Amino acid sequence: MAQTSILIIYTGGTIGMVKNEKGSLVPFNFAQIYQQIPELQKLHYRIEAISFDPLIDSSDIMPEQWVEMAHIIQNRYEDFDGYVILHGSDTMSYTASALSFILGNLNKPVIITGSQLPLGELRTDGRENFINAIEIAAAKEDETPLVPEVCIYFENKLFRGNRTYKYNAENFKAFVSGNYPLLAESGVYLKFYKENILKPNFKKLKLHTQLDTGVGIIKIFPGMQASFIHSILATKGLRALVLESFGSGNAFSKDWFIDGLQTAIQKGLIIVNVTQCIGGSVEMGKYETSRRLLEIGVVSAKDMTTASALTKLMVILGEEKHNKDIIASFTRPWAGEISE
Ligand code: ASP
Repeated sequence: MAQTSILIIYTGGTIGMVKNEKGSLVPFNFAQIYQQIPELQKLHYRIEAISFDPLIDSSDIMPEQWVEMAHIIQNRYEDFDGYVILHGSDTMSYTASALSFILGNLNKPVIITGSQLPLGELRTDGRENFINAIEIAAAKEDETPLVPEVCIYFENKLFRGNRTYKYNAENFKAFVSGNYPLLAESGVYLKFYKENILKPNFKKLKLHTQLDTGVGIIKIFPGMQASFIHSILATKGLRALVLESFGSGNAFSKDWFIDGLQTAIQKGLIIVNVTQCIGGSVEMGKYETSRRLLEIGVVSAKDMTTASALTKLMVILGEEKHNKDIIASFTRPWAGEISE
């Protein structure tokens, strides 16, 4: 049996910081990964690491970096059994969602992790996150990877990446997946919940890298002004808008609002409806306040997260021209991001 091999891709973020001789935090040198974390040798895997240059705080991550990560995976797809991406937690859910759509026919684990405290701090959560992410990326059954999807591992829990939200800026428990159960948990043992994990399709990896950023998000709130929404709807180059609505997909029924959306839709804008809640689904038509959205052609994103809806639109808009095809593709599950 060949030795299991894992590629670490360090993009930046808190996790990769260690203390130098003077006690200041500096980026970890992944070329010396075994010197920095000697315990890794006990895993008996072949581990290679590459770092982004320059390293990027995840608030500065852009679609170009998602494509870069995807190309690294594609270029080394035959060389490794799994991939661990070290990434700042701030935009981790966006990256995980985007990669789940960019990496078509993914049949290997891509485990994204980070930490709230740097690896160089005594109380770091990074060491546990990092080592478990490697173990999960390496896990196989009958020579087939156990988790062939894009995931986030954080504080003992493995989430489907495109279902997550960062909901806490301080706690080690920083992520939540309101609409999908855990894929695995680590305690004394690593416990995989196989019934929740996507099955491999054994097809050839196919990247979708033509992302179109002509998208936007608007979170409605009581007291929103007509001029505010009108100026957003008039944004040049805007092709699709994620409307973050109340509860099960409701919005104000004011005429200026509904008429404004309707005119924009008639001119070709795609508007998708995502709930502001962390859990639950959009159900347009359940209340009068969402029925009108349905009637004017707003598309339900059902239980998709905002990050998933947004990044999925970027990927689809990059490939499809006609709104009918874009909407058909958007409402179809790609990588377990929407309940069927
Ligand atoms: N600002 C940092 C980042 O997202 C926080 C972290 O690493 O978690 O890159």
